[in-house]
Amino acid sequence: MNQATMNGPIFVTGATGYIAKYIVLKLLNRGYHVRGSARSLGRAQEIRDAVAPHLTDPSALDRLDIVALDLSKDDGWHAAMEGCAALLHTASPFPITQPKNPEETIRPAVDGTLRALNAAKAAGIKRVVLTSSTVAVSYGSEATTQRKATEEDWTDTEAPNLTPYAKSKTLAERAAWDFAETNGLDLTAINPSFVIGPPLDANYGTSIEVIERILAAKDPMVPQIGFATVDVEDIAEIHIRALETDATIGLRVIGACERFMWFQDMAHAIKVAFPERRSVTRLAPAMIVRLLALFDPAIRGVLPDLGRKREADGSRARELLGIEYRDTKESVVDAARFLIDRGLA
Ligand code: NDP
Repeated sequence: MNQATMNGPIFVTGATGYIAKYIVLKLLNRGYHVRGSARSLGRAQEIRDAVAPHLTDPSALDRLDIVALDLSKDDGWHAAMEGCAALLHTASPFPITQPKNPEETIRPAVDGTLRALNAAKAAGIKRVVLTSSTVAVSYGSEATTQRKATEEDWTDTEAPNLTPYAKSKTLAERAAWDFAETNGLDLTAINPSFVIGPPLDANYGTSIEVIERILAAKDPMVPQIGFATVDVEDIAEIHIRALETDATIGLRVIGACERFMWFQDMAHAIKVAFPERRSVTRLAPAMIVRLLALFDPAIRGVLPDLGRKREADGSRARELLGIEYRDTKESVVDAARFLIDRGLA
């Protein structure tokens, strides 16, 4: 399926998101019509302003419209997708601080995914690309600390210490596969690792908040937390190429370059690129991190993965979709530059 064979707009949920804005931009630059959703129409102009400077043809904005939808409410979903050719479901809560009540993250993720898929089915949309995560692939198990995780791996939702976010993404992806099988949808799941790179505007999500935190240098040391990583433009490209490649139907596609990065590696890259900034690169002993976690909920959320190296195999995206991954060391530096240049950090 490609632009020529797509009959109608591509529906993108969560168009206000860090990754989704790049997806919308790339779809418009390829000539697609796009219908995006935001929780409030008040943010429609923000999306337009974010993509406008990067459009190859300014009139492409005429091919973008925004509708209001909430993952937790039924209102509007069915009407919104009428006439659309395909669904890219990216919206999902992605909190930097895990909520006290896990259901606050899990319910919108799972119920919202089912709302989106039900609406797609009712509108006659068959082709769906879902933004899942590597937290739905390799968490809650020790096996994936010994080898690179692949699309065959699934996070164990019963594992103790699994964060509400990881549980939400795993349950949402499982629900999507069940729904697709029962209802005959052509589903591809994209499983991004930690996404990094400059955002399109100052309304960025959790991954840029991590860079902001490193730049703020308010922590005296960095915890030994790390992730497989992928550049934000690469992950947007993976979504769109997957949509256009029927061979990905029924598959999960991990987005991960070769570079695994500890927070310390990110801090080092930033220190080298911006030597005039006060940077903290000293590694915090595990005991201190556990102590800090008592007071800092953001640290508490990553505690189960302290010192654990979970690499992910991103070769399927390379082989099936021709993705040539950008080195995410550059993405980290560019994200930091974005924040510094705008006085945001
Ligand atoms: P953002 O927080 O920027 O994007 C999340 C999007 O979901 C926003 O548009 C947000 O809307 C929307 N959303 C959240 N809750 C609701 C709700 N109740 N109703 C409607 N919309 C809602 O983060 P990212 O762009 O990074 O994340 C996009 C997707 O990618 C998510 O599914 C995330 O799980 C996944 N992902 C991200 C990774 C990363 O490292 N960034 C890694 C792996 C997966 P609003 O703007 O109104 O809050």
